[in-house]
Amino acid sequence: MAGRYDAIIVGGGHNGLVTAAYLARAGKNVVVLERREMLGGCAVTEELWPGYRVSTGAYLISLLQDRIVRELELERFGYQVLPKDPAFFSAYPDGRHLFFWQDEKKTLAEIAKFSPRDAEAFPKYEAYLERLAMVVELLLLVTPPELPPKKPADFIEYLKLLSRFRHLGPREITGLVKIFTQSAADFLDEWFESPEIKVTLATDGVIGANGGPRSAGTAYILMHHCMGGVAGKRGLWGFVKGGMGAVSEAIAASARSHGAEIRTNAPVKRFLVRGGRAYGVELENGEQLTAQIVASNLDPKLTFLKLLDAADLDPEFRASIEHFRVEGTSLKMNLALDGLPDFLALPGTPGPQHGATMHLCPSIDYVEKAWDDAKYGRPSHNPLLEMTCPTIYDPALAPAGKHIMGIFLQYAPYTLRDAHWDDLREPYGDRILEVISQYAPNMREIVRHRQVLSPLDLERRFGISGGNIFHGEMALDQMFVLRPVAGWARYRTPIEGLYLCGSGAHPGGGVMGAPGYNAAREILK
Ligand SMILES: Cc1cc2nc3c(=O)[nH]c(=O)nc-3n(C[C@H](O)[C@H](O)[C@H](O)COP(=O)(O)OP(=O)(O)OC[C@H]3O[C@@H](n4cnc5c(N)ncnc54)[C@H](O)[C@@H]3O)c2cc1C
Repeated sequence: MAGRYDAIIVGGGHNGLVTAAYLARAGKNVVVLERREMLGGCAVTEELWPGYRVSTGAYLISLLQDRIVRELELERFGYQVLPKDPAFFSAYPDGRHLFFWQDEKKTLAEIAKFSPRDAEAFPKYEAYLERLAMVVELLLLVTPPELPPKKPADFIEYLKLLSRFRHLGPREITGLVKIFTQSAADFLDEWFESPEIKVTLATDGVIGANGGPRSAGTAYILMHHCMGGVAGKRGLWGFVKGGMGAVSEAIAASARSHGAEIRTNAPVKRFLVRGGRAYGVELENGEQLTAQIVASNLDPKLTFLKLLDAADLDPEFRASIEHFRVEGTSLKMNLALDGLPDFLALPGTPGPQHGATMHLCPSIDYVEKAWDDAKYGRPSHNPLLEMTCPTIYDPALAPAGKHIMGIFLQYAPYTLRDAHWDDLREPYGDRILEVISQYAPNMREIVRHRQVLSPLDLERRFGISGGNIFHGEMALDQMFVLRPVAGWARYRTPIEGLYLCGSGAHPGGGVMGAPGYNAAREILK
């Protein structure tokens, strides 16, 4: 029997849940339909092995918009951030190490070990990046204007947008133009001389990116990762108590408190469309639900190419979605550990290094070479590794005395040359442990369980096309008025009543909630 709602949200990722919560708050009768047995999409906590509760996808929080946390009362529903300090620990093959702390004085002393000049430049660099990030942040909760502008009202929107930048000086304007177009390496070269400092800062520019630190556009991704903050401190990242699933569960609880119905194990097969208008969905089990509004939390490829009939879309629009780039290059390895890695560069366990994001990538050249492998269809022989141990802050995630480690790796291309991830997954997992062992020789001994999620596995597990962690490359030609495609960046789609509310819409990926929030605002209009 067909159920009837005001709005159906397809996908229970954190963005879909944010849309549902705002619509329910506005008095709409809402249902969320999630394919998996759990909510959260890429932001989940899964008990992979008995007693080990793992953030299998996203693992750190910073970008989630304060306004959403406040308005949806997420803290009341259990959301709690455990700020990460030290922020970074880098171990270098020559035996040196570097920490970035929340205490600036301590960080400057660390940087001075590598270059006193860089220590002097660092506070100015941070202030500069913060000024630029604050400007771009103004655009996160904004609906992009129409491209190309058609009506007088569209031109007014552009003027309003420009007026947000009126207080900027020439240095900031030039800085903004450059940061949108430059590579992370070029951007950092203007500030620093030490390869160790530069690469530690450059990692933010290549996480999730389809490019190396010398690829144009990576400077923007670097800034994208500096746009949030936790515990009132800009740029700070933290762990979520209970794992990343606790964010999604808090949003879901908030939505339910306003009457939203949320269903798991409810995969949607197709959107129902009549005369160019969406009127509901059909589930895999044949059940049909109807509503005036259907919002898709799925990425643009799944939304338009899988859940809609080709006949329902203009061929030109369909072609532009086919060209939307979604090839992922990230791999996640989740480990259950009997102990902690004992680094040659800073022996001893536990130590402050284990509470940091631990970087293994000695220089920009190293990362660029890692990207070179991926460009030609091979996972990096010497990859960039970013490792975190949430159990240092939240021991309840593992049995007493045990730890969880999340390893985020660049670069593992979705499309392999002459190989298949189903054959390469485990041998490559061995290679990752071999690389870590060069820095922490006890690594292999302490691994009790492991899960390797190649981009193909990320696609299968989380339902993200190409395994792209952002639902589509965050490149200049796929952002803001161009996300996902020109003319359709305002959460609406060519199908009337069908909206996009996931990371494939502005402002893109990350556990940010912004696309879900913006979509809800547009729907309520
Ligand atoms: C390995 C990894 C690490 C990451 N690390 C971080 C991090 O540390 N910090 C950070 O901020 N960001 C991180 N990200 C990025 C971030 O997690 C994502 O960009 C964001 O969570 C996407 O949220 P979303 O709600 O837009 O979409 P998703 O989370 O992808 O949600 C979409 C939902 O739709 C569901 N779905 C798909 N098909 C159907 C269907 N047919 N019917 C019903 N439901 C369906 C999916 O199961 C999923 O639940 C990471 C991502 C990954 C994969």
